Amino acid sequence: MKFYSLNHKAPDVTFDQAVVNGIAPDKGLYFPEDISPLPTSFFEHIEDLSNEEIAFRSIQKFVEGVIPDDVLKTILKEVLDFDFPVVKITENIATLELFHGPTMAFKDVGARFMAQCLGYFSRSSKEEVTVLVATSGDTGGAVANGFLGVEGVKVVILYPSGKVSDIQERQLTTLGQNITALQVDGTFDDCQAMVKTAFLDQDLLSEMKLTSANSINVARWLPQLFYFLFAYKQAKSVGKEIIFSVPSGNFGNICAGMVAQRLGMPVKHFIAATNVNDTVPEFMLTKEYKPKPSTATISNAMDVGDPSNFIRIRQLFQDNFEALQKNFSSYSFDDHQTKKALKEIYDINGYISDPHGAVGYLGLKKYQTNHPDTYGIFLETAHPVKFMDVVEETLSEKLEIPAQIQKVMHKDKKYINIATYTDLKSFLLED
Ligand SMILES: *Cc1c(COP(=O)(O)O)cnc(C)c1O
Repeated sequence: MKFYSLNHKAPDVTFDQAVVNGIAPDKGLYFPEDISPLPTSFFEHIEDLSNEEIAFRSIQKFVEGVIPDDVLKTILKEVLDFDFPVVKITENIATLELFHGPTMAFKDVGARFMAQCLGYFSRSSKEEVTVLVATSGDTGGAVANGFLGVEGVKVVILYPSGKVSDIQERQLTTLGQNITALQVDGTFDDCQAMVKTAFLDQDLLSEMKLTSANSINVARWLPQLFYFLFAYKQAKSVGKEIIFSVPSGNFGNICAGMVAQRLGMPVKHFIAATNVNDTVPEFMLTKEYKPKPSTATISNAMDVGDPSNFIRIRQLFQDNFEALQKNFSSYSFDDHQTKKALKEIYDINGYISDPHGAVGYLGLKKYQTNHPDTYGIFLETAHPVKFMDVVEETLSEKLEIPAQIQKVMHKDKKYINIATYTDLKSFLLED
């Protein structure tokens, strides 16, 4: 399958080229040329399939001709070696836990898949690939972990100083080997802007092979569609209309869910729940897309003022607002509401969510006031322990630290401070 640039001023490419380029030369995001439905029997009998089979059949078409079936199967086996349980909260609300991976963030799947693909593509090449990634929290740890020790790949992570949690910072600064962390004196948007500039900087491009590991990269973005299929498989027997509420920042995860819908998954509505960074909820009210600087919140992995993947969602609907509105709602909530929701979920049945999941829960509740007959699944995108301070304080409960996190708690943080694009450039050229 070919991928084209959403700016339409760059050549179409194959999957491997889209992965290595990250973003197209015309600054556009890559998009698959054809998303046609899987046979209906796939969804009718999905409960008989293993997660690996579901993943294989749903992604195969996108990588056809580039990754042979047996290699794809091996990759998926490594990527999907943990659980994705749907956990009941009330009669019509459940949560899909996406935090059982090595860094306890849902980004583990995309990051691992991309790392494996890139490792495969560079198997016969002598030139090293440098992966450049901006993180507002969880991406960094997941990418660092997914790429750790992958041969022929070097990873450089930019994160905003003082705006990621202690655990998140440890996850991306303590690994060493082929991973370097750069602490940026600025916001996440500054980090993302620097990364975007680097990808268009001819001085750099002539010296090295640069690629991104943000959700703009198709290899990180697309495999997220698996989650929705895994959840559908577990929930379809409830017999009600299933809807998803996705805590959203860069809108990659929810967009992948909507790709699963295009593949024929019988889910009619998606809710993008955001914190006060409400560019998309505002768009759904005003039909005007007005990016703004990001605001720091307690759900910091969603502190994004100009969500990169929203353009892909618009593309899915050929930018037809009415069609989009039928399938998609978006609501924003502040930190006070988020904390109240954490408490509310805890009071229902003792379930401890994290601030991102709580925002997802709020989005679901809001939609369900007018659609009470639906079965809503909100995505729990990170383990609560990664936001320990706010969760413990809100619930007056002590959290236990899981083994995956224990491992990084006593290691030394190692990072390099930078402030401007020039700093980044000299680092990349000198290193
Ligand atoms: C990245 C992240 C999100 C947002 O996902 P997008 O695909 O960027 O919308 C939500 N929650 C957590 C915990 C994250 O790490």
